[in-house]
Amino acid sequence: MTSPLHSDSVAVHAGREDLTALGVHALPLDLSSTYPLPDLDRGGESYEAMATGGHPLADGGAVYARLWNPTVARFETALARLEQAETAVAFGSGMAAMTAAILAHTTMTGRRHVVAVRPLYGGTDHLLATGLLGAEVTFCSETEVSGSLRPDTGLVILETPANPTLDMVDIAAVAERAGDVPVLVDNTFATPVLQNPITLGATMALHSATKYLGGHGDVVAGVIACAEETAGRLRQVRAVTGGLLHPWGAYLLHRGLTTLPVRMRAQQDTAGRIAAWLARHPAVARVHYPGLDGDPRGLLCRQSRGPGAMISVALRGGFEAACRLTTGTRLFTHAVSLGGVDSLIQHPAALTHRPVAPHARPAADLVRLSVGLEHADDLIADLDRALTAHRRP
Ligand SMILES: *Cc1c(COP(=O)(O)O)cnc(C)c1O
Repeated sequence: MTSPLHSDSVAVHAGREDLTALGVHALPLDLSSTYPLPDLDRGGESYEAMATGGHPLADGGAVYARLWNPTVARFETALARLEQAETAVAFGSGMAAMTAAILAHTTMTGRRHVVAVRPLYGGTDHLLATGLLGAEVTFCSETEVSGSLRPDTGLVILETPANPTLDMVDIAAVAERAGDVPVLVDNTFATPVLQNPITLGATMALHSATKYLGGHGDVVAGVIACAEETAGRLRQVRAVTGGLLHPWGAYLLHRGLTTLPVRMRAQQDTAGRIAAWLARHPAVARVHYPGLDGDPRGLLCRQSRGPGAMISVALRGGFEAACRLTTGTRLFTHAVSLGGVDSLIQHPAALTHRPVAPHARPAADLVRLSVGLEHADDLIADLDRALTAHRRP
């Protein structure tokens, strides 16, 4: 028996197994919006199979691009391999993926209650709090999950490390407490390189692929890794509601996956240096970075392979200092989003987490950094200049 490939090799080769047989080396990009039908019967049956969450029939064709696209399917195969999941379903954005997951486990099952562990990405918090999808939500902390479950709970949602505080949630513990209720883990910050929620008992691992998976700030996309049974329902929602990923985005994401492990490790190394430096800086009240306080619950070791490349920093000078820092850097671009090759800086309370209820919103003194591939010394010099230039004597 040959040993399984390391994930670095999977990242380069997954979803490309048939390329040599096809006589090509780069990923084929299929931009068809419609497909020639073999005959009415087989075409119709293929349509039926896909509209109800299945795959196209081999002799029935893909029929229509809202139902299926081979370039998207390749990316899904590759991402599923990296997440150690059976399969994956890709969407036009992280929020489209989140919407499909909620609909597939509430409206579609008749269980309209969702338990959501805060903090969550502002858009997710907002989507749940508005009740727009007809689901009723109980927001809680990790330890309150058991007490928040109801007979009609259809889904538990958590994020770890969480956006923007980098709080860690024990995935296996929540999965155990949830019992039969499916658990969705937003794995955007950790990426499949550092954490595989499915192997820890989660039902779904969701990514805003806009962030690390793409990695170059030029794709908006979402993807959910899961078992085939769950994927069927997600594909059904995607086909019916039209939340599909464009094949050009899938092509860029699939290409992005090849460098994901290398990017993650390099960005993480730099982030570790920056976090340690920030923790000693006189303008800084507190640095939020997994493991910086010594991993007291052993979570970092138990469920992940590293702290990642996102840092949040609370400033002694409060909101004013946060404003000055976000607008004072030069290498760190003042912009939302994260996970790209270039470093970004933003103020969560004013931007990404603006729609969150005031009592649950991140503190006004908190600034979030996404550390890219620039040299650590240059990034530290940039932060030092921005922090020191404005410090009052
Ligand atoms: C950005 C983000 C999302 C939403 O993804 P989009 O691609 O912007 O729709 C969800 N979760 C987390 C943790 C994010 O950072």
